[in-house]
Amino acid sequence: MSVAPSEPVDLGVVELAIVGIAQDGGVPQAGCACKNCRMAMEDPSRRYFPSSCAIRGKDCSLHIIEATRSLAEQIVIASKSLRFEVSVPETVSLTHTHLGHVDGLGQFGKEVIDSKDVPLFGSEKVLLDLKRRRLVDPFSAKTVTPMSFFSPKDGCGFEYMFIPVPHRDEYSDTHAIVIKGDEKSILFIPDHDDWDKTLNLNGFENIREWWNYLEVDIILLDGTFWNEKEIEDRDISEIPHPMISETIERIGHKLETDPELYFIHINHTNPILDENSPQYQKIIRMGWRVARQGGTFVL
Ligand SMILES: [Zn+2]
Ligand SMILES: [Zn+2]
Ligand SMILES: [Zn+2]
Repeated sequence: MSVAPSEPVDLGVVELAIVGIAQDGGVPQAGCACKNCRMAMEDPSRRYFPSSCAIRGKDCSLHIIEATRSLAEQIVIASKSLRFEVSVPETVSLTHTHLGHVDGLGQFGKEVIDSKDVPLFGSEKVLLDLKRRRLVDPFSAKTVTPMSFFSPKDGCGFEYMFIPVPHRDEYSDTHAIVIKGDEKSILFIPDHDDWDKTLNLNGFENIREWWNYLEVDIILLDGTFWNEKEIEDRDISEIPHPMISETIERIGHKLETDPELYFIHINHTNPILDENSPQYQKIIRMGWRVARQGGTFVL
């Protein structure tokens, strides 16, 4: 299949597309008939893929962060949003090895794409875990040094920096990723456990100090749950994430000097998936946003 670009690509510009905004299970989640999942079953425009970004480099190369099971659809979204022909990503980068972030890796193997040496960027522990699971075979594994910028491909015109964040690290560790172009930087942080732990690990006491230090313009932030009441049938202490209600309580209203903040990694139970919910409206009133699948940013 070939999807022709609808508008000419502005060569020399780096652009990022959000190609998934959901938590690992997606929306609808397998076997669930909650309100959001039912709405998604009835209306395809309310179906959301696990959180992932696609970046078109200055040289028109395609790069993805996270490899989800919805890779095929997400490349189509990237192609439409970023205006280029559908193609195989030239590099893949991973924050950690939980299911929804890596369950598309197998598609690069013999049964599907049959790639041989696509660079796969991850921390030492992430790559070790994936090697154990035989998921690295179609890739050329590239170990990332945290807290230092590197370019995933010569000529792509942007750089990544991996930042350690605590996140129930049973199998591997977890990183947030800064994507830095000539004009703007984006912080992608789909999963972390707890603001105090994240700030502490990075040597900061409050969220704004950390953002300001990173000099990012846009943040795509873990918005898994609105609050703990959302999950009645599971022990939420076993799946910790800072609740959106806590995050916006801590940061208050958006200040003019703040980065733009978009919530991503949204669980199927989260009321913010409905734009008419009071929770969604509250986020908007405070100057923050909820990410849109297919939304783009020029870097
Ligand atoms: Zn996740
Ligand atoms: Zn559901
Ligand atoms: Zn995770």
